[in-house]
Amino acid sequence: MQDHRLDVAACIIGAGPVGATLAATLAAAGLPVAVVDSAPLPPMELQDFDGRAYAIALASQRLLAAAGIWAHLPGAPCPIEAIHVADGRPGAPPSRLSLHWRADAVGPEPFGWMVEARALRVALNARLPAMPNLAVFAPAQAAAVERHEEGATVTLSTGPVITARLVVAAEGRNSPLRRGAGIRAATLDYHQIGMVGAFAHEQPHGNGALEQFLPNGPFAQLPLAGPGHFGTAAFPHASAFVWADRTAIAQRMLALPDGAFGRELRRRLGDRLGAVRPIGRRWSYPLSAMHVSRWWDTRLALVGDAAHGVHPIAGQGLNLGFRDVAALAEEVIAAWNGGGDPGDAAVLRRYQARRRPDTLLMLTGMHALERLFGNDIAPVRVARRLGIAAVDRIPSLKRAFARQAMGLGPGVTGLLAGQPLGRS
Ligand SMILES: Cc1cc2nc3c(=O)[nH]c(=O)nc-3n(C[C@H](O)[C@H](O)[C@H](O)COP(=O)(O)OP(=O)(O)OC[C@H]3O[C@@H](n4cnc5c(N)ncnc54)[C@H](O)[C@@H]3O)c2cc1C
Repeated sequence: MQDHRLDVAACIIGAGPVGATLAATLAAAGLPVAVVDSAPLPPMELQDFDGRAYAIALASQRLLAAAGIWAHLPGAPCPIEAIHVADGRPGAPPSRLSLHWRADAVGPEPFGWMVEARALRVALNARLPAMPNLAVFAPAQAAAVERHEEGATVTLSTGPVITARLVVAAEGRNSPLRRGAGIRAATLDYHQIGMVGAFAHEQPHGNGALEQFLPNGPFAQLPLAGPGHFGTAAFPHASAFVWADRTAIAQRMLALPDGAFGRELRRRLGDRLGAVRPIGRRWSYPLSAMHVSRWWDTRLALVGDAAHGVHPIAGQGLNLGFRDVAALAEEVIAAWNGGGDPGDAAVLRRYQARRRPDTLLMLTGMHALERLFGNDIAPVRVARRLGIAAVDRIPSLKRAFARQAMGLGPGVTGLLAGQPLGRS
């Protein structure tokens, strides 16, 4: 489908996890789709574990399965079957007033899965080119994007001209399409750096995750399927970490040699996993929250990190993006199947109405958590420890939190509830 001119229902700019999943979801329902990325697809598919992994909630997994992506994962990802939330300090044991959830108390399925970024990329790269009504242009720049009431035209730097009913901005945080449309984005700098990576460890994790709230920022351990070729007899298990800390401290930590960095990890983990050894690369990101004034413009919709940024305190960034995919795909497919215009303002208004409240709630919720847990004032510490212990004793509240972690909050229907749309 690499013709010089192409007419599609939707042209998606950005083939990151969100844009690529939207492309596969629409194409699986029979819509003609194009997806454009400025980076080439194959080099994104790294050969070795690179230290990055996503926590994919149950609802997001259903979306990936409906889009035919999940089946292409190269190995079985690790299910998250238990979550332990505690308040603590580096070097001190976690508070005994903690919260513990087990997925089997809610139902037969896990909270979610830990999927290596590399494995998701492998699955997307296997799925996308195999779909007959999906054209992939990568690497290619959208040299010109013209949007009018009647339709949109995307001219690629490599030559092809794509006419589309709808253009989707999925180019991540610095979305040029969002800026070009004059959509304002309010940002809040947390003055923290998020450090991400993996470590091998002595003791099994039992498919459990730990969220430790430390004075300078949260620290999460998330179970991985295994250390692969990084494994040794002494370190046969593996987990990922997401660790937010003050910028200056994080910079110091990132510069440490592996041995010293491993000791810092252990000071935050306690003894539950035994000895630890960092594996793969360490990644770091300055942390900020972002909220857009509008989710759409003439024949343009924003999805994923182009539309929002949240604190990674609960690993929800990508899951929010997948919820955008489900909502936009459902609206666009319904319009297309009904003989309507999928880029019409009424469709995009409905999309915004579905996504804005959920995202705002997540944004404020993560922010409140960050503020509540991100200080070490003694009365606040005592109050939050008592709060954690109180939630642990209220089964209905615990269950509601658990369903939220699975992405199964109130009103979840359609793709996120496991109902496939159109043909596959
Ligand atoms: C520290 C940290 C930890 C995180 N951990 C988790 C986690 O455990 N679970 C979770 O759900 N989320 C997590 N997230 C969030 C997650 O990484 C992002 O939400 C996710 O990557 C967003 O995907 P996206 O496709 O919207 O954007 P991106 O991943 O940014 O992809 C954008 C794509 O667009 C392309 N592009 C850019 N500019 C252009 C252009 N001009 N033209 C064409 N293409 C372009 C890029 O090449 C890229 O392929 C974490 C984030 C941080 C910072």
